[in-house]
This record gives sequence, structure tokens and C-alpha cells, in this order.
Amino acid sequence: MDFNQMGKLMQLASKIDIDKITRLSEKVDLGELIGLVSAMDEATLLKMTKMLKTSTNGQPKEPPAPNGDFYDLSATLTDGQRQLQAQTRQFMEEKVRPVINDYWQRDETPRELLLDGFREMNAISHIFNEDGTRKPDAAVTEGILTVEMARVDVSTATFFGVHAGLALWSVVMGGSEAQKKALLPGMLSMETIGAFGLTEPGVGSGVAGGLTTTCRRDGDEWVLNGQKKWIGNATFADFVVIWAREEESGHVHGFIVRGDNPGYSVEKIMGKIALRAVENGLITLADCRVPEADRLQEVKGWRTVADVLRATRAGVAWQGVGCAMGAYERSLTYAQTRKQFGRPIAGFQLIQDKLVHMLANVTAMYAMCLRLSRMQDAGIMLDEHASLAKVYTAARCRDTVALARDLHGGNGILLEHEVARYFCDTEAIYSYEGTNEINTLVVGRAITGISAFV
Ligand code: FAD
Repeated sequence: MDFNQMGKLMQLASKIDIDKITRLSEKVDLGELIGLVSAMDEATLLKMTKMLKTSTNGQPKEPPAPNGDFYDLSATLTDGQRQLQAQTRQFMEEKVRPVINDYWQRDETPRELLLDGFREMNAISHIFNEDGTRKPDAAVTEGILTVEMARVDVSTATFFGVHAGLALWSVVMGGSEAQKKALLPGMLSMETIGAFGLTEPGVGSGVAGGLTTTCRRDGDEWVLNGQKKWIGNATFADFVVIWAREEESGHVHGFIVRGDNPGYSVEKIMGKIALRAVENGLITLADCRVPEADRLQEVKGWRTVADVLRATRAGVAWQGVGCAMGAYERSLTYAQTRKQFGRPIAGFQLIQDKLVHMLANVTAMYAMCLRLSRMQDAGIMLDEHASLAKVYTAARCRDTVALARDLHGGNGILLEHEVARYFCDTEAIYSYEGTNEINTLVVGRAITGISAFV
């Protein structure tokens, strides 16, 4: 051994972890091991090293599959819910995922594709009975459906939620028995699609006291005037539930308004940076005439609107869970395959920190929403419960998709890598069904006993 070799040996020896060597020597005969290795030719030695790097037991080492349900919350669902979950996942992964970026880019809803899928799985029949009453575990089932849709595409969950949540609840809570009989069969089978028109260009958060769309009785008809902004599905819906204030009494009424009602027009809102695969409409009601028979007969003023919003707010909280779950799973896959400095980026501590942070968000959000929906099914969910989940999941979702975008580097702003879409769509989740500020004020009022609304 020359001086250089001696130096190298000393350097290597200084890196040896004696504890590890001791533990190793308890398992194998180190002398024999060194003897075998030193007898190997160079080619065999190279092969051995490669094998040791890629396998633990001679089998190729597969990276663990991404799983956003880390605490196996699905195990607490019923068999029926798990079956629906699997069916929805398959539909979303196989049919929607391959095409959704194109639709998103074109500002278009793939509605025939979605309707075919939802009709085939009879989606709404798992939530509502034929007479409009709810299945005993409807809220959890709806949550599971929503999470599976949003995990691939939030626009799909919104398309579904506007019809099967906002519009359907309005008819169920505000319609007479005759109106329910006429509207529900088509709505449940999704042959008839509904929309929900509450927000106005000048009034969003303050709509409870500030509704400016008016209605006036004129014989057997009503005359509606005003505008409705952001109305999801409005460009193709068979009807929109329009909320308006009566000129004389100030009472809030709900109306079933169809595209052919005189004085009704809708234009598609363009240029959105979020939920581009949802078609949002700006509706104009210019002396729009609606028969008295299409006024929702059981509406009890603003109280009915508030009941509808409370019932559907949990659904939006679930959208945040699905969106964050999708972003986390895509990020883990990306981190396992994307290499920098000669190794998968998943092997860097700072990347693992991001992934674990995202997973913790998803796990907390999922558990929270599951409990919320169980409270809703038990009839004990209050406004503040739904609002807290909306506040928390929207904020955690925003945090998660930002990390996902960041983890993808430059690819994170390319639509083809999907997390860019999740990143943008989250901005809508943050603002609709009550902005995070408004939902915070609802919870703040409940826990302090003092209203901070102005
Ligand atoms: P604003 O009310 O003008 O709020 C602006 C900012 O001020 C927000 O940050 C808000 O939190 C804050 N703010 C307001 N008041 C207070 C306060 N008192 N204290 C502190 N901060 C406050 N509506 C429908 O009726 N039907 C639909 O189908 C529908 N779909 C939608 C889809 C999308 C993609 C979007 C973006 C919106 C949709 N909306 C729909 C409307 C949505 O519900 C409103 O955007 C939302 O209620 C917020 O109203 P705004 O946009 O007018 O914001």
C-alpha cells in the first residue's frame, strides 16, 4: 500500500459509523463478507452495487403509491359509499381527467360527458329520495362524491353542486308539493338541469339585506327586474331559481325562470382564471314575466335562502378536500419521478417537508368534513359548524395547492401538469358560498356572542 492509498483508507475509515458496523456484525460474518466482495471481479461488483441501490430483496423497489386518505377514513364509510366512491373515482380518472384541460382552456363544461357519467351511476339517487327527502347518510355520501370529483377537477364538482345542491335544495325547501312533483323527477335523473341565481353585480357578500333584483305582481304573473352575476350552469340550464325582493312588501321570493320567459337573457362570463370548465352566466331580467305558478310557493323569505346556503356550504368545504387531495397526490408522483442532482426530488428533505405538510392539511380537512357531514346527517349541524369547515378547508386548500405548484418548479404553471389548474380553481373555492371573511364572521359571532358584521 502506497502513501496515497493509506491516506484514502484513513479518510474512508473516519466516515465509518462504529455502531452500525457493530449491529451489522451481529447479523453477518463481516470477515466472510469482505472476503467474498474482494474476490468479485469488477463487472459483478458493479451489478451488485446497482442491485443494492434498487432493491431490498432482489425485487425491483416500487415507490409507494400516492394515497391522500392516509388515515384510511374510507374504512369508516358504508360498503355502499365505498362502492360509489370507487365508481366515481374510476369515472373521473378514466373519462374526465384525459379531457378536462382542453375544456378548461376553452371555457367550456363537458356536460354531455358528465351527464352520461352521473346518469349511469344514478348519482343523485344516492342522496335524495324520489319525494325530495334525503337518505339518512346523504351528507356523507354527497361529500364522498364531491371529494372524488374535485380530486380530479373542481369544475365538475361545482357543475354537480350547483344543480344537485343549490338548485335542488331550493326546489325541495321552497316548492309546493305540486311543484316538487313536476320538477323533481327530471332533476333527480339529471334530465333537467337547474341553476341558482342569487348574487348580483353590485351585491355579493351583503346579499342578505341588500338584494336589489325586484319582483312585482301583475295579475297572474310577476314582473322581475335586475341582474344576476356568476350564475353557474346558467348558459345551458333548463331553469334558474331567481331570488328577488318584492317591490311593495320587501319580501324575498324565489322563481323558476326559464330561457324562454320574456325579458330573460344570459351571457357567458369570459376571462375567468378559475373554474374555467364551469359556465358562469350574467343574467339580465328586463321586465321579465314569470307566471305565479312558477313562484316557489313555500319560500319563507330570506330564511329559505339561508337554509339552502347552510345545507350546501358543507359541499363546498368538501371541494377543498378533494382539490387538495388531488394536488398532493399529483405532487407525490411528480416528486418520485422528477430527478435533480441525480436523484428523485422526493429524496430531498425540503421536498419531503412540503409533501408532509400537504398530507397533514388533507388529512385534517378530510376528518373535519367527515365529522361535519355526520353532524348534518344527524340534524345537529349549525351555520357556524359549516362555516368553520368552509373557512378552514379553503385556507388549507390554498396552502396545499401553492406548495404543489411550487414543488413542480416551472412545470407547476403548465396546464398539462394539472396542479396549475388546481391552483387557479382554489381561488373560486375561496370566494364562493360565502367568502372566507364572511364565514369567519359567522363563526366569530357564534363563539363570542358578539356580531362583528357591519
Ligand atoms: P364582495 O362581497 O364584493 O367581497 C369583496 C371582498 O370584501 C371579499 O374579500 C369579502 O370577503 C370582503 N367583505 C365583504 N363584506 C365584508 C365584511 N362585512 N367584513 C369583512 N370583509 C368583507 N352566486 C350565485 O348566486 N350562484 C352561483 O351559481 C354562483 N357561482 C359562483 C361561481 C364562481 C366561480 C364565483 C367566483 C362566484 C359564484 N357566485 C355565485 C357568487 C359568489 O357567491 C360571490 O362571489 C361571493 O358571495 C362573494 O361576493 P362578491 O364576489 O360580490 O364579493
